[in-house]
Amino acid sequence: MFRSLRIKLTLINIMVLGLILTFVFSGIYILMERGMRTETQRSLRMIFIQSRAPERLSGGPPRRNVQDSFYIKLDSSGNVNGKSQSIPVADAELKTLLDKTVKHKRDDGDIKISNETYRFMKFSSPDKAGSTIAYLNIQREKGFLTRLATIFIIIGLGSMTLAFFGSLFLADKALIPIKEAWERQKNFVADASHELRTPLSSIQTNLEVVMDNADESVDSQSKWLNNILSENKRMSRLVDDLLILARADSQQDSMIMVPFRLDRAIREALSPFEPIAAKKDIELDLQLDEEVSYTGDEALIKQLVVILLDNAIKYTPDNGLVGVELINHGSHIEILLSDTGEGIKEEERTKIFERFYRVDKARTRESGGSGLGLSIAQWIAKEHGGSISVFNGKIKGSVFRVTLPKSRGKR
Ligand code: ADP
Repeated sequence: MFRSLRIKLTLINIMVLGLILTFVFSGIYILMERGMRTETQRSLRMIFIQSRAPERLSGGPPRRNVQDSFYIKLDSSGNVNGKSQSIPVADAELKTLLDKTVKHKRDDGDIKISNETYRFMKFSSPDKAGSTIAYLNIQREKGFLTRLATIFIIIGLGSMTLAFFGSLFLADKALIPIKEAWERQKNFVADASHELRTPLSSIQTNLEVVMDNADESVDSQSKWLNNILSENKRMSRLVDDLLILARADSQQDSMIMVPFRLDRAIREALSPFEPIAAKKDIELDLQLDEEVSYTGDEALIKQLVVILLDNAIKYTPDNGLVGVELINHGSHIEILLSDTGEGIKEEERTKIFERFYRVDKARTRESGGSGLGLSIAQWIAKEHGGSISVFNGKIKGSVFRVTLPKSRGKR
């Protein structure tokens, strides 16, 4: 797919360049040709004027070399009754030239005689008593125009060849981010289908067990039904996460930015976790600056806190400590979420923000993780012009730091 796209882009570039060059070069050629034609016509008129006062010719025509121009005078019956003193054409050729000129339908034109091209112009006398034909050798102009056309063709073909290779190179460069995005998208779809397949097949297996024991009571089959329920919950959570990421990818700015009390929002996000923490004997240590006002999408900020808190409790063993700090720095706000879990290795610290990345796949799946939480958290922080980073705790565990500027700059 990318190979044909690369060739297509290159060909489009070449075609555009070809059109531009054709337009520019033919424009220059036509202008030059017109200019020369006007110049030769002026010279032919001068020759005619001089033919009426031949004595001035001895002083030399003003514009052209006398070798290149001459005139012939004809009477009313077409016989030659006068001509220039020197004519640079042999008598036989002159006769042919004259014959062709007389037969020519127009009053001016070009005639080729033994490799030389002459431009002529007929001037009839007002009383129809005769006519004068002025001639000018335009071989030099013709040669110049031919050379010009050759140079243009060579430059045109040369630049199109160079542009071909240049465009291939540029198309390669331009396609790199598209290829990466495509790969990411492919992996994302593959990972998402894989993640959805696991709960789906689990639901199917459990349902089959229930169906096989159709006579049994609901109560006696509660183990299988509970499995179905929890897999269903996991699947709807996953679908919710996928929808958020699809929204992130579509870059639609559908956030509702309103001022709210951040300390209050964090407390609200925290309260559902209190029983979960208590169940694991995890102490929740809150140190929140009071009355911190912040303008942002309250629901998304709460979701960010929930993701980090959920992880902190999930990855901290029993009897551990999870701390939540909110510091108002004036220009920006800092949220610190620390735990006394196993911590995150240096080499994993950037990877954990990638979609579907889990340090220990089997274990995190057991605890309901899909590897999407932190990528959603990072997207929320970025959408608010902020950032999220992770480092080691003072003694053990890890600390997630979210920085949110108070005035949202350009994303
Ligand atoms: P998950 O749904 O698997 O928790 P996340 O994107 O939230 O997905 O986290 C990605 C991975 O980062 C997790 O699988 C886990 O290995 C690691 N991780 C996240 N938070 C913590 C933490 N507080 N302590 C240790 N490891 C963590």
